[in-house]
Amino acid sequence: MKNLIDKLCRERALSAEEYKALLLCRDAEVLEHLQRRAQEETLARFGNRVFIRGLIEITNRCRNNCYYCGIRKENRNVVRYELTQEEILECCREGYPLGFRTFVLQGGEAPELKDDRITETVAAIRREFPDCAITLSLGEKTHEAYERFFHAGANRYLLRHETHNEAHYRQLHPGSKRGNDRSGMSLQHRLQCLDWLKEIGYQTGTGIMVGSPHQTIDHLVEDILFIGQFRPEMIGIGPFIPHHDTPFASAPPGSMQLTLKLLSIFRLMHPAALIPSTTALATLAPDGRERGILAGANVVMPNLSPPAQREKYSLYDHKASMGAEAAEGLQLLEEKLRSIGYEISKERGDYRILDETINHKSYNV
Ligand code: SAH
Repeated sequence: MKNLIDKLCRERALSAEEYKALLLCRDAEVLEHLQRRAQEETLARFGNRVFIRGLIEITNRCRNNCYYCGIRKENRNVVRYELTQEEILECCREGYPLGFRTFVLQGGEAPELKDDRITETVAAIRREFPDCAITLSLGEKTHEAYERFFHAGANRYLLRHETHNEAHYRQLHPGSKRGNDRSGMSLQHRLQCLDWLKEIGYQTGTGIMVGSPHQTIDHLVEDILFIGQFRPEMIGIGPFIPHHDTPFASAPPGSMQLTLKLLSIFRLMHPAALIPSTTALATLAPDGRERGILAGANVVMPNLSPPAQREKYSLYDHKASMGAEAAEGLQLLEEKLRSIGYEISKERGDYRILDETINHKSYNV
């Protein structure tokens, strides 16, 4: 099994059967080897520095009904909110002096939030913070809308594919009821959006939840193969965590071990990728964030939303948004990172092609 890991380091890819064998392996020594190789790979390119992104949750309104998500349309128990352009700019003004040089605008697919308003907000951030990167994570939009956001100044877009298996996708999302009914979601359309984003020129992120209901090891292999072929600049993976007001309320959460294993595999497949140690990982276990970094993650995304709104953006139960997960808790984050030998990088942290970022200095952490 260790040979497989070494092969993955050398060739940056394995066959479907080999990935499956790696995912099924429970040998602690092998897993430690995988994690160590992934960490070495990350240190060689990025040093012991972790990029930070300020996450601004701009609205919890959503027209979709994803079975796993706490802010799904049919959840009547959420108090809905939408930040104004001025409120979003205020978040950026708060984040900038703290050292944030990337702002991530995330939200549900709010029909009220017209594309024009998003475009204006992006343009306003671009004017006021010309040296910052703007990342959007607003779900599926038209090609034209993606283009307008890009021309207004957005640089990156996060859109997890969630699962690359057609049948599994339908178990996680309601589909269209009739032929020309556009209310449902489809894997095909999500993948189409990802192609558009890349083609327009965004640094594009995709990814999955680990342990989402009905997920199998074969589905994960399909996800790995898709990511290997799509080659996103950013890869977002976190464990599924149930939300009490969703159809998946009683489903078990995803596994920390499996999430870390996948994270390391993605790092070895794609050494230059920007891979966050996600909030879901930090929610699953108190040391989840640190464990993600030691497994090959190189980004964290502290919450920069107005504190009064944070609990309304409840994708899953007990979602962390305070302490080291909060932008205002950056010092605490810094301490936690220092305890594992890492520090915060206040650079913009754009995706760079390999050769420019290879750093042969060795780090002892
Ligand atoms: N509307 C945007 C943003 C969605 S929220 C979009 O469609 O892309 C960002 C991510 O949170 C989702 O892509 C999903 O993978 C994750 N998420 C949602 N519900 C979750 C849950 N119950 N547990 C873990 N992650 C979840």
